[in-house]
Amino acid sequence: MGKIIRQSPYHCVLCHFYCNTAGQFRNHLLSSSHQKASEPDENYWCVFCSFLCKDQDLLLKHIEGEEHQEVIRAINGSMPIIIRSPKV
Ligand SMILES: [Zn+2]
Ligand SMILES: [Zn+2]
Repeated sequence: MGKIIRQSPYHCVLCHFYCNTAGQFRNHLLSSSHQKASEPDENYWCVFCSFLCKDQDLLLKHIEGEEHQEVIRAINGSMPIIIRSPKV
């Protein structure tokens, strides 16, 4: 399991949550535990693509989009997608 966690490309800093797929990450973003931890104006940042947005829906569209999936395949999960608070 430790190996999987280190390779996980999706990382929610707020919840210390890691996962491997866009689908799992979507489930996390929509979960009540994440909703509780996050602010309405949370920044979402995809390190892969230098994609920054303030909208969860935009982020989900981004990480499930063709362009992003290509990048993930190319770098083989070596960099995370990060959600982070603008206050940090
Ligand atoms: Zn979270
Ligand atoms: Zn991306």
